[in-house]
Amino acid sequence: MTDVTDEILQRTEKIKARGKSDARLAPDPVNVPMIRHWAEAIGDTNPRWTPGPDTEAPPAMAQVWTMYGLNPVRMPNDPLPETMQVLDDAGFTSVLGTNCDQTYARTLRPGEVPSITTFLADVTGPKKTGVGEGYFITTKSVWTVDDEEVATMTFRVLKFKPGTGRASVDKTKSSRPMMSKDTSFFWEGTAAGELRIQKCNACGELRHPPGPVCPKCHAMDRGYVVASGRGTVHSFLVHHAPIVPGKQLPLTLALVDLDEGVRMIGEVAGRPEEGTVQIGDAVEVWFDPIDDEVTLAKWRPAGTGDPEPAPEQTSDLPIWELPITPTLVVSTALATRDFQDVHHDRDRSIGHGSKDIFINILSTTGLVQRYITDWAGPQTQILSCALRLGAPAYPYDTLRFTGNIVSEEDGVTTIDVTAGVSIGTHANARLEIRK
Ligand code: ZN
Repeated sequence: MTDVTDEILQRTEKIKARGKSDARLAPDPVNVPMIRHWAEAIGDTNPRWTPGPDTEAPPAMAQVWTMYGLNPVRMPNDPLPETMQVLDDAGFTSVLGTNCDQTYARTLRPGEVPSITTFLADVTGPKKTGVGEGYFITTKSVWTVDDEEVATMTFRVLKFKPGTGRASVDKTKSSRPMMSKDTSFFWEGTAAGELRIQKCNACGELRHPPGPVCPKCHAMDRGYVVASGRGTVHSFLVHHAPIVPGKQLPLTLALVDLDEGVRMIGEVAGRPEEGTVQIGDAVEVWFDPIDDEVTLAKWRPAGTGDPEPAPEQTSDLPIWELPITPTLVVSTALATRDFQDVHHDRDRSIGHGSKDIFINILSTTGLVQRYITDWAGPQTQILSCALRLGAPAYPYDTLRFTGNIVSEEDGVTTIDVTAGVSIGTHANARLEIRK
């Protein structure tokens, strides 16, 4: 172990050993106006949330009541911000939310004041992931009202060092892209749903594949631009043999002229058959997260929708398509008391390396639960929701919800929900409900 690893683990071990934080009270009691704003933003018309003598708070609002708000005064012994600081100090400055698992004992009522306690459950690392080397931080929180446990949450984030995408690969397992210091920005981009083209900061020339030196002016100062993701097939080939680990053959590879003027080679997404594309076809990028660590940029005929999940897009629940507007992103972020700029300020969001503002995790949780109760009925009790995040949900895309019943036992129905966007899977969730 390196000194850095030792220090991170020693410091986080101390936070872990401290155990539960002091209880922190919600700044406001559960109240009808906040419930109404939340229901309006999520578009949830469940009569249980509408103002009246029996108004209940949606379970997905559990975390909303104890959010820090716009001008946070953090509690000194709250383990999550403190653990984040330890990782920031060691250079692991980027953050990616990966999991949010909640359970709900009951709904809250107006006038109740929940409080939260949190402890640091686990810090694992260093792990090499597609986006970079980092540590997974897991915290567990409990919400109580007058000592009665009303909800719990296990929350996991990846804190990683920007520019440290995986550099070495095990070729016996599956074919993976080679990643290096020069190409990590590209793979961080695909993981974030962006096709990035290297740009010379001296003369402005775009180039691909990435390299350390500008072929035009020989400058080494380099950055990138985010491509539109559209292009034209310049040439293609169909690969029949030999076998490629992890791939179904034949495999079509296309040389694509991007609208921005550079050329890129990529796999054509879709079923393994010939004639998927022809020279001159308009194509668009499609991001395929092949595992937890690597997201590939593939190409598909323009405007053809999601290619690969087609055979498995069965849904026991009616499919729900929700257009994502900037208003949806902003109104749900504010209704969930999440004031991080990546959810409301497009310029700042792009400055952080994102394509646009995007939906926050609390709102995804709310939308998934609305999908379930719209189908199962307003009286449905949500017992738990385990959510795993993937591709960001940006404005002008469409969220497409599908749901499948896993089991029905002792009155509890288990349902898997997938929320897709055009660039891949935004979220997978497993919910337990009682109808
Ligand atoms: Zn140059």
